[in-house]
Amino acid sequence: SIPFGIDLGNSKTVVSCFKNAVVDIVINEESSRSTKTLVAFDKESRYFGQNASTQALFNLNNTVGNLKRILGVTTNDPQLGIEREYLMVQLSGDDYADVNVQVQYEGIVHDFIGFQLVGMFFNKLKSIALLESDQYPMTEVCVSVPMWYNQRQRVAIINACSIAQLKPITIINELTAAAVCYADSKYEELLTKSKTVAIIDIGHSSYQVVIAEIRKDGVKILGSGYDKNFGGRVFDYQLALYIAKRRGVIFDENNQKVLYRTLLAAEKLKKVLSANNTAATTIDSLVEAKDVYQTIKRDEFENILETLLKGGKLENPIEEALKMANVDISQIDNIEVIGGSGRIPFIRSKLTEFFGKPLSATLNQDESIATGNAFIGSTYSQKSSAFKVEDITSMDVEYQWKAETGKGTARYVIPRGHPYPSDKPISTKRTDEKASIKLDYDINNKRLTWLVVDNNPPVENQQRINIVLVTRIDSWGIHNLIDSYKISQLIGPQLSGNIQDDDKEEDKQSEDKPMKDISQSTNIKQQLKIETHRKVYGDDIDQYLSKEQEMVRNDEVIVDTLNSRNNLETYINEFSDKLDSQYEEFITDNNEKDKLVSLLEEKRDWLYNEPYGNTKKVYDEVLASIKVQTNPIEEAYKKEEDRKRNEYLNRKYL
Ligand code: ATP
Ligand code: MG
Repeated sequence: SIPFGIDLGNSKTVVSCFKNAVVDIVINEESSRSTKTLVAFDKESRYFGQNASTQALFNLNNTVGNLKRILGVTTNDPQLGIEREYLMVQLSGDDYADVNVQVQYEGIVHDFIGFQLVGMFFNKLKSIALLESDQYPMTEVCVSVPMWYNQRQRVAIINACSIAQLKPITIINELTAAAVCYADSKYEELLTKSKTVAIIDIGHSSYQVVIAEIRKDGVKILGSGYDKNFGGRVFDYQLALYIAKRRGVIFDENNQKVLYRTLLAAEKLKKVLSANNTAATTIDSLVEAKDVYQTIKRDEFENILETLLKGGKLENPIEEALKMANVDISQIDNIEVIGGSGRIPFIRSKLTEFFGKPLSATLNQDESIATGNAFIGSTYSQKSSAFKVEDITSMDVEYQWKAETGKGTARYVIPRGHPYPSDKPISTKRTDEKASIKLDYDINNKRLTWLVVDNNPPVENQQRINIVLVTRIDSWGIHNLIDSYKISQLIGPQLSGNIQDDDKEEDKQSEDKPMKDISQSTNIKQQLKIETHRKVYGDDIDQYLSKEQEMVRNDEVIVDTLNSRNNLETYINEFSDKLDSQYEEFITDNNEKDKLVSLLEEKRDWLYNEPYGNTKKVYDEVLASIKVQTNPIEEAYKKEEDRKRNEYLNRKYL
């Protein structure tokens, strides 16, 4: 199979594939190079992408956007307060569990978890890819995520892939993928010299920066920064508020349509202003159900941006990234700006001002992340690839471990900027005879717990023990506990000095350094058993997979039913026409024609008056019943046609 890349954007998603040593962007049914990240439901069916967008205005409460922001978020996450402003759907869910989206589907209330919704969307992308080329089905994918996605969110991506029956090759940070794309596009230049590049992505919902060292054979992320609540949707919202204020419109919960329409208009105006000094549009039914013509000047929009940018919104993440990278602005070879909002001239000029040099445009603003994803996918499939990706974490991760029995807890922090993939041993010294330790990994109250159990027989003359837990951040940015062992120091006069020395460190922040005397015969190393409390890769998702398959079948039934109805309609209309033309001579008596005409009339009336609620079977049966009457004529016509054709061919070639 060939590797695919998915750049799951909050507003649009780009799918790529690596084929014949180049990356292609997958084109969707509307011949578009990206698909709107939208899923919608109604009493019959599900809708995705543009289809979901088309029906949105009339079905706002069942049209779900911002999928990327709901994914892997728990109900107690304060971030949800912000997300609610951008969501038109109801949220639900138990305390501390994944948030659900509540929608009406097939006349029933459904609660869908974020990864279910993203899973549905991935499944749709899979079928789009299949339409374009069924020779290379999408089975293996490299999915990019924002650098600020935590463990739970990354695992949620894996779950979404499982629901779509996709095998994730790896998960990669979006800007790391863009850096990989850069390495490919500048390969020739990089042969002689590596580059230090700043990559800045201002998208729909968030803003991210990396400083990367890019070589011909790999990328190394040196520093990063982000603001997860700065992007195009914020600008749209503020511009919509500005327009509403000017027009005396108040957005209230009971009239979401007004807000939605104004947001659409604001986005349109915003985009036009990137290339023009003024923009105008008509907002349907804005004030007292009347259409409103709205013009806006670039200055007005820039004033709004100016306010939003106060306090170093744009500069702070870049400064953080530079500091983490230990790189001075003067050492930056190139500044690449990607993401749709990176097109805004005001933002571009602020960035140019900050760096004191012009921005470059090596990377495609919309496709470089997806392109990078497909490249990374290809390096995984060629096992021998020498291309190396070195990333860093974007947030502090705290491990906490407690003895299940006995006393004491210890904390260990892996600070942001920590390189990965990497292994990190953390150790603590204990006096407990038997170790049974709980290791908690905690980000924003999202906890992952491993239980480490000591099943070894007691060691005689054991003086003290040192427990080592080896944590791994894998290339997916996911934390694992890969090894755990205990070193028992035995009582012996020859060791007493050492023991005294170590005693002082009891239960303090643990150090990475293992015990000094591992090799001495007075130390005994014993393996501990790691029992995982909760599966690292998420819950059992089989139930969600079968639910998805059921919904897919349902969607297919809807499509099949519609096709059957269309077939019936087409047949009635075509046969009626032909009755007056080519079939006429095959009707022996006029009574017969009248009978057929009234039969077709009757069925047509039935079709146009029935409320679309019939099953495929009903339409197929009606069609069959008509054909019983019409078949003899069609047969006779065909026979005559064949006869004429043979006669013609005989005349011509014999
Ligand atoms: P995210 O990266 O936040 O998950 P995304 O990848 O879907 O989202 P992009 O496609 O990079 O986001 O950017 C979409 C945003 O860019 C939208 O808010 C859109 O309005 C905005 N945008 C697109 N073109 C322009 C333009 N010419 N001028 C201003 N803004 C634009
Ligand atoms: Mg994006």
